[in-house]
Amino acid sequence: MTPEQLTGQVQDHIEFIQEHIGLHKQVVEPFKAMQQAAAKDGFNLQIVSAFRSYERQLGIFNAKLDGQRPVLDINNCLVDMQSLAIEDQVHAILLYSALPGASRHHWGTDIDVFDPELLSGEKLQLEPWEYERGGPLAPLNQWLENHCQQFDFYRPYQTYQGGIAPEPWHLSYRPLAEVFEQQMDIDVLNQCLTNKPTTAFETVAKLLPSIVARYVKITA
Ligand SMILES: [Zn+2]
Repeated sequence: MTPEQLTGQVQDHIEFIQEHIGLHKQVVEPFKAMQQAAAKDGFNLQIVSAFRSYERQLGIFNAKLDGQRPVLDINNCLVDMQSLAIEDQVHAILLYSALPGASRHHWGTDIDVFDPELLSGEKLQLEPWEYERGGPLAPLNQWLENHCQQFDFYRPYQTYQGGIAPEPWHLSYRPLAEVFEQQMDIDVLNQCLTNKPTTAFETVAKLLPSIVARYVKITA
């Protein structure tokens, strides 16, 4: 992948399977195979979010840093951003939202999934409790636990390791994502952030080495 593809600045590696749902061209077939297997077991496996562009991630990140979007902590409580030093504001955002250029959703290998029929009319929140025991999506969570590896998908954010909050809904296509994760580095990120900088760019640039170690290179 080129640095522009890795950071979501272009989308020529992406095939759109629905209007807003784009996957890496080599992930379309494996996803459909998994979807069909899920259907056989009674699940309607659907994607909420797949490819996301740099611009879109930049919008989310800046809105949180500018106070136009709420920032939540690991206990789902609102963070008082004003009370934090700028470095800590950035880390607070990165718990749930990737740095623009550093989202695995730029690659088209990573998807957020759910089953609309398990929600019985409730709106999807994408919060862990929905997927945990007793939550409406727990049966799908269990199915993914048992089956996603057969289709070469895995869940990089299953447990909290001090970087990104647990995201049981987030699947990654391992054969490609492992390679792309290797290709990501400080230079690739620096280049795209210099093109279209975030709010508080000086701080972000200074934190890049720790951001890459803590949030980007996550697969052991
Ligand atoms: Zn995701």
